[in-house]
Amino acid sequence: MAKKKTIDWALAPAPENKDHITIKPQYELFIGGKWVKPKSGKYFDTINPANEQKLARIAEANEADVDAAVKAARKAYQGPWGKMPASERAKYIYRIARLMQEKARELAVIESMDGGKAIRESRDIDIPLAAAHFFYYAGWADKISYAFPGKQTSPLGVAGQVIPWNFPLLMASWKLAPALACGNTVVLKPAETTPLTALKLAEIIQEADLPEGVVNIVTGAGATGAAVVNHPDVNKVAFTGSTNVGKLIQRSTAGSGKKLTLELGGKAANIIFADATIDQAVEGIVNGIYFNQGHVCCAGSRLYVEEAVYDEVLRKLKHRMNSLVVGDPLDKNTDIGAINSKEQLGTINKYLKIGQEEGSDMFQPTCDLPSKGFWCPPTLFTNVAQSARISQEEIFGPVLAVQTFRTMDEVLQKANNTPYGLSAGVWTDKGSKIFNMTTKLRAGVIWANTFNKFDPTSPFGGYKESGYGREGGVHGLGAYLNLN
Ligand code: NAD
Repeated sequence: MAKKKTIDWALAPAPENKDHITIKPQYELFIGGKWVKPKSGKYFDTINPANEQKLARIAEANEADVDAAVKAARKAYQGPWGKMPASERAKYIYRIARLMQEKARELAVIESMDGGKAIRESRDIDIPLAAAHFFYYAGWADKISYAFPGKQTSPLGVAGQVIPWNFPLLMASWKLAPALACGNTVVLKPAETTPLTALKLAEIIQEADLPEGVVNIVTGAGATGAAVVNHPDVNKVAFTGSTNVGKLIQRSTAGSGKKLTLELGGKAANIIFADATIDQAVEGIVNGIYFNQGHVCCAGSRLYVEEAVYDEVLRKLKHRMNSLVVGDPLDKNTDIGAINSKEQLGTINKYLKIGQEEGSDMFQPTCDLPSKGFWCPPTLFTNVAQSARISQEEIFGPVLAVQTFRTMDEVLQKANNTPYGLSAGVWTDKGSKIFNMTTKLRAGVIWANTFNKFDPTSPFGGYKESGYGREGGVHGLGAYLNLN
């Protein structure tokens, strides 16, 4: 694929090598430690969104397949895993972490091929962080009682976990590592457009010799996810995905006794005060929204700029957007890879149209996009009303809506005025402003003078329609335990 350039000068292509990776032509379901053909008899294709080529055929699990997976998980819970001392469990989790590190290059390339994200991100962020979560929670496995002093702790049983496509292996790790550390067994369903790294993780789990049935991976789309969530023998449901599906799950699990955590959508406000270091802030804003094509639940998709520095910020932002490289996800120079799917590109394009119809001004740097695959250049909207749909609704693409403000009260009111509350960013030279803002912004995660920084020790989760429950850190353990 030709290197795309949005700038006057061209970067020589620097493609990551694919020779060292193995993708099987067909993947079965991973149940009870074995690869089993789906009872449904059905398969679907997973494609590379950068060129629309098929990567593999993937088994589609139906209710009977999910039932077999839950039975395998229950057997392992009542058998070897449930009876194993926590210090032994920890060794398995460490082993998985180390194997992930050993295979990091292969996992990164496959993540970029299956999902469309730039190799720099999958190589430097997704895969190292995924391994870090396993390392972190392995350390907790035999120290759980110290995390909750004065409480009796016990595992919940079988956890049903459903994850999205934007950070496929990382989301799998966020869910699996704490569940295992706490002594649960798992049925995990990856997203239908990005199943490959979860299936590679199943190979790692086999190699690590994890007892059969402790982790089961069932592939498929929404119906498979619903079968996991609604299975009567699942004790805990952990879901990351859209707010609409989260609401469905909340309704369907109500009264079932299942413990539930929901990590849903977001519409984060990034707020720049006039006293901020503007160059640093512009870099953070660019990272906040154009990182991973804006396929980030906590993406800084709304920008509030103090009026005094609006012209400067806009000028610098557009200049920086002009230098972003859009193109082949496997090229090490690429900043913005492919949109994950045709459907998601359709959603983004719908919002680009809505934004213009609502009267906002759209800016995109000129760049020729590849003829195959799903692409969207970095996009900026100015002249945006607070009530505009592009300012209120989650787009999940590289689209930034910019507004101005004059006072702290005004920006707080605007920033909090969405149904979501996942994350926010504050850029200022004054510590007092940071503290003032962070106590009043209704968001689960607030970054100050940085954005999109993740760490396994730090809890993550939302307010309002962004869901409830926390993943990461000690809080992430609590979601997988009975605490009495
Ligand atoms: P989605 O809700 O369409 O799908 C998420 C997962 O749920 C997929 O595996 C899908 O197959 C499954 N699913 C679909 N319908 C289901 C049903 N009825 N029952 C059970 N499972 C079902 O979301 P998506 O488009 O894949 O992901 C994007 C969304 O995820 C965005 O809204 C984003 O903000 C959110 N997200 C949130 C976080 C967070 O931590 N808060 C992290 C990443 C993504």
